[in-house]
Amino acid sequence: MDKHQPGVAISDIEQLCLDRGMRMTDQRRVIARVLSGATDHPDVEKVYQRSTAIDPGISIATVYRTVRLFEEAGILERHDFRDGRARYELLSEDHHDHLIDVDSGEVLEFQSDEIEKLQKEIAKKMGFKLVDHRMELYGVLLSRKKKS
Ligand SMILES: [Zn+2]
Repeated sequence: MDKHQPGVAISDIEQLCLDRGMRMTDQRRVIARVLSGATDHPDVEKVYQRSTAIDPGISIATVYRTVRLFEEAGILERHDFRDGRARYELLSEDHHDHLIDVDSGEVLEFQSDEIEKLQKEIAKKMGFKLVDHRMELYGVLLSRKKKS
């Protein structure tokens, strides 16, 4: 866990907030930093744990509010991976889809040109221009042996 240090480079999310003219408090900055550094699609509880490791004064209510604020500003993308908890990631320009390990809840990312092409073709056949989609695969590991 990275500790909050003065002079450390400003996070991607913080920069996006500044670009949008959002007021940045110290607590928002910590939460932005935690989210910018996350690669695991964390839920609010995880963001809260990581944020309080940096600033113990941050409340779960503040994390909820801030995450919602970032989401409404189009900075964060919210996912529902069917485990009853909203999960978040930085909204990226590069599209990717998700595979969810139903045993561990781990979220893996993938890209498939074939799937992208097929989806467009299906929409077109039905008379539509595809503007968005969500693709979530749910699976169990074929072998419990860990990849090295
Ligand atoms: Zn993702």
